[in-house]
Amino acid sequence: MAGIYIHIPFCKQACSYCNFYFTTSPKLKGDFVEALLREIELQKHFFSGEEIETIYFGGGTPTRLGANDLLRISESIFKNFSCNISEFTIEANPDDLTERKLKELSALREFGFNRFSIGVQSFSEEDLRYMNRAHSAQEALSSIKRTQDFGFELLTIDLIYGTPTLQDSQWLKNLEIVKNLQVPHFSSYALTVEDGTSLAQKIKKQKSLPIDEEKATAQFDILMNFAAENNFEHYEISNYAKPGKKAVHNTNYWLGKSYLGLGPSAHSFKELERSWNKPNLRAYISNLKNGLLSNESENLTPIQHANEYIMTSLRTALGLDLNNSLVQKFRISLVEKLQAVNAEFYSFDKEIITLTNKGKHFADAVALALWLE
Ligand code: SF4
Repeated sequence: MAGIYIHIPFCKQACSYCNFYFTTSPKLKGDFVEALLREIELQKHFFSGEEIETIYFGGGTPTRLGANDLLRISESIFKNFSCNISEFTIEANPDDLTERKLKELSALREFGFNRFSIGVQSFSEEDLRYMNRAHSAQEALSSIKRTQDFGFELLTIDLIYGTPTLQDSQWLKNLEIVKNLQVPHFSSYALTVEDGTSLAQKIKKQKSLPIDEEKATAQFDILMNFAAENNFEHYEISNYAKPGKKAVHNTNYWLGKSYLGLGPSAHSFKELERSWNKPNLRAYISNLKNGLLSNESENLTPIQHANEYIMTSLRTALGLDLNNSLVQKFRISLVEKLQAVNAEFYSFDKEIITLTNKGKHFADAVALALWLE
């Protein structure tokens, strides 16, 4: 079973920390949708008949498109691929989720649409201002309730911690809201300052406060304790779910299943081939007008494939299984490398390496220590 990701590169305003591919200009929306419909047709043999289990509209902000456009895109996916959908997610920002928009989007249920991913990030005004989010804390709250009232039980929200404006007490309040609103799944990330973002510029010019790494570390601990105490499974380093509510689409990424990415900057993976659309909306549109894809690709070597598995599996609760065919032949080398890793960071049982809570703070460093040359 495979998945389709559709990147919708439009946003209302630029969040200060964002390094995804997006534009705040709506000018090319119409041309983009036509190009995307062409791309779907050109890629219809990508899976060679394998069934699609999940659809994920991400971005950018997919809800910047009208429901009619999202319907046309979904229709085209169903026409060109064999679909047996168990999870169909649309990312949305709180300010977009009006009653009217929810009503319009409900028309997508006929294609299996059953899940919203809401970019809440925080329930604190100060925090939202620091990140230059387009919505208020009140809108964040009411959008969740409204979405639930519309019967979308499979809901996930994003939360960011580690901002200089977020005190530990407010962070706990944010998490309590998740619990009290009975949100069954959330993703949570430490704020990072990426080169080229407006936040990086502002910090450099001392117009924004810098990130405090120690605070982020402490807030990750608060988060992990909250999850354990409230029956949220910490099933991937940034993802938390109530029993039976794990995200299918993202889990399939981590399990190495095939996926097709559509839209500028989207990535695809099949067998040993990884490909990606260039992050350039104008080139994407003009190439597709001429019937051309805007992508590049590479074939993974067995070592690259093993390294990808090491990197992603260590982030999951399933852990890195040395019996997995991708790494089995490197077992001796991996066990040797593991000796150099702080023993408090992992457990190694029945050939499976999993990170401890302490180790989750250093997931990338542990993966690098095991990196195969
Ligand atoms: S809404 Fe999402 S994609 Fe758009 S600028 Fe903000 S973080 Fe980036």
